[in-house]
Amino acid sequence: MMKYIDDYKNPGAARKITENINTLAEKLPAAKRNFSIMEVCGSHTMAIARYGIRELLPENISLISGPGCPVCVTDAGYIDTAVELSRNGITIATFGDMINVPGSDTSLGKCRSEGADIHICYSPLSALELAEKNPDREVVFLAIGFETTIAPLMALLETAKSKNIKNLSIMTAFKLVPPALEALTSDPELKVDSFLCPAHVSAIIGERPYQLFVKKHKIPCVIASFEPLDILYGIEGILEQVVSNKAFVDNRYKRVVKQEGNTTAQHFMDKYLVPYDASWRGIGIIPRSGLKLKNEFDEYNTEKRFNIEVKPGKPNPACRCGDVLKGKIKPSECPLFRRTCNPFHPVGPCMVSSEGSCAAFFKYVK
Ligand code: SF4
Repeated sequence: MMKYIDDYKNPGAARKITENINTLAEKLPAAKRNFSIMEVCGSHTMAIARYGIRELLPENISLISGPGCPVCVTDAGYIDTAVELSRNGITIATFGDMINVPGSDTSLGKCRSEGADIHICYSPLSALELAEKNPDREVVFLAIGFETTIAPLMALLETAKSKNIKNLSIMTAFKLVPPALEALTSDPELKVDSFLCPAHVSAIIGERPYQLFVKKHKIPCVIASFEPLDILYGIEGILEQVVSNKAFVDNRYKRVVKQEGNTTAQHFMDKYLVPYDASWRGIGIIPRSGLKLKNEFDEYNTEKRFNIEVKPGKPNPACRCGDVLKGKIKPSECPLFRRTCNPFHPVGPCMVSSEGSCAAFFKYVK
């Protein structure tokens, strides 16, 4: 057990935990001899590939990457709508990962090279500054992400309202993690035995949403951070539960994740947003898995403001991102991987994002 905050850098502890994982893997009951753990967070996916965590595990334990990359699960139709807006003279403000994501026909990066006014923001407040400095232009912020990103974006709206900024709107494609766990667990083609729950998302939502999930499905859930030792520690926690025939929410990131989560962030989300049945790229509609602006904030809602609607896109049919995001195949099993699809010529979003599984495999897995 890690006692100190800097223990996650300790090689001796890594060796000890890995030995324990191997011992626990040998003790797994026959029905769970081949055991799968899905990491639901893109940062976990990247760290697992980068630090060779898979190679440290016994053969009967497999790590499956889930839909935890926000860029990857954003529909192609959303990109198409942003492209259309930019071609109609609207200023687009976005996080950098979105720039090279292919929509149905093109990407925002290509539009920018053709002269569209598209800005990369490192913080939502940059979009606010952009709107303030250009009062004669309409600025649309591409508001995508999981629970982690949502609250800061609602703080952006709060500030825009308090400053009476009228030329800024947000196009939302927010996604929620707990409904995705539910959908993955209910998929008969997918066998997920346990979940390594995300760190930052859990810092916002706390332990409770997972507790409801575990109570219903009796699937072990462990909250872990992104350092390699944290991930090993999380895997150890999952196997301990299985060996002792238990299933509960084990918070192994207590140095950040509180049981109740971040109530200030939750307040911001409740104030501005309501749940809806959101479409996930390559996966489809998941009930109540998205958040959209309440009607009373229509003036900040891009779709309402410009009377447009995000329609389903037509991503490249050869791209297997959907199967990658559901953990059905490894990126290397996609026929395009490393051939026609690479980070310089991405065919799908999983090869673009710094949290995408295909990008992680391309960079770190030989
Ligand atoms: S390798 Fe490329 S084409 Fe294949 S699933 Fe990944 S992003 Fe899509």
